[in-house]
Amino acid sequence: MRKKLVVGNWKMNGSRAMVVELLTDLKARAPWPSDVAICPPMAYLGQVQAELTGSSIAWGAQDVSAHNGQGAYTGEVSATMLTDLGATYAIVGHSERRTYHAENDQLVAAKAKAALAQGVVPIVCVGETRAEREAGHTDAVVQRQLAAAIRSMGARIGEVVVAYEPVWAIGTGLTATPEQAQAVHARLRQQLLAATPAAAQMRILYGGSVKADNASQLFAQPDIDGGLIGGAALKADDFDAICRA
Ligand code: 13P
Repeated sequence: MRKKLVVGNWKMNGSRAMVVELLTDLKARAPWPSDVAICPPMAYLGQVQAELTGSSIAWGAQDVSAHNGQGAYTGEVSATMLTDLGATYAIVGHSERRTYHAENDQLVAAKAKAALAQGVVPIVCVGETRAEREAGHTDAVVQRQLAAAIRSMGARIGEVVVAYEPVWAIGTGLTATPEQAQAVHARLRQQLLAATPAAAQMRILYGGSVKADNASQLFAQPDIDGGLIGGAALKADDFDAICRA
């Protein structure tokens, strides 16, 4: 039985005041039946660590460098540093990183590998654009994206979390139907199973306009093991409801 995981991706939102306010509220509502984690902007990760240490809420980063340790990589944050900050997770390959920062499958796989090497669990994001879906290329796209991570990690792929986030559903209010999402998740799990028997225990999250009112239908699908939540993670009532879904 896979325990659900709900991850709040705050994207480029928040402030020192908001971190205190939202996390104080969420801590008062914890624990939930799901595992729960928050991925704030890197600037606030230390503050989030201070707020959440000793609570049942985990935290992580929205990205991580492919370079480990220390070094001359201006602007980068290594998985070594994430470990120092107590982070459990690092999102890699979010479609916003792929689109606005030209991250390709190889770089995403290298980031995932770097995270895992330091004991940080990568949340590897895959997802097709609207044009790719309409052209019937959904499976080819997400399987190509996942294959790069499998090639780079081998059997250790069993230690990552996968997130299916159809690009057309992110921040648009358009959600994949539970059936559409389940179909992709089931095929991703088949692909993972070919790489490792641990795939049966791996968590595959759905992301893209998950809200309090659609989360339970999505999470009821057999291969949907929780969610990666954007906008609704910024409001305590909404996020709390999703964590209970
Ligand atoms: P929304 O929930 O705002 O659609 O964002 C989804 C997402 O990109 C989470 O990583």
